[in-house]
Amino acid sequence: MKCKQCKAEFTPVRFNQKYCFNTDCVRVWVESEKEKQWKKKKKVLKDELQTVQELTKLAQVVFNKYIRLRDKNKPCVSCDKPLGSKYDAGHYFSSGGHKTVTFNEDNVHAQCVTCNQHKHGNLLNYQLGIQKRIGADGLIELHAKAYETRKFTRDELKEIIETYKEKIKTL
Ligand SMILES: [Zn+2]
Ligand SMILES: [Zn+2]
Repeated sequence: MKCKQCKAEFTPVRFNQKYCFNTDCVRVWVESEKEKQWKKKKKVLKDELQTVQELTKLAQVVFNKYIRLRDKNKPCVSCDKPLGSKYDAGHYFSSGGHKTVTFNEDNVHAQCVTCNQHKHGNLLNYQLGIQKRIGADGLIELHAKAYETRKFTRDELKEIIETYKEKIKTL
């Protein structure tokens, strides 16, 4: 084994030992361990400081990405035209007013830019399209859920982020 610091050959006595026992090298070794520990601690602190707002944003990004991939071969949910190269994940119940269904897969479908951005979701046609996809019963259930009130906790949001990161991998 070659010492990371002085480049001299040495025989490691510990698993994964990168430095020899030369005083200077040990000093560098200790510093690098401290640095590693500090980086780990900083990451934990950062995770703890992530706010609900930030996590909500992140969850939205990951969830919407999943929806766009899930629906990539479908037409626009509202106008039934091809999605085109750039398209959105359109919420039937808006994410602002209906927190309960923000991350509900039945509530979000791929939408062309025209419908999503220029026709404010083209909601009348969205209703027809969504009914075709989730059925009348699904739509009734979605309506019931949409009007419940709830807040997501940080742990719930983290779970949503992890869940959809995993689901994206399977697509
Ligand atoms: Zn050394
Ligand atoms: Zn459309």
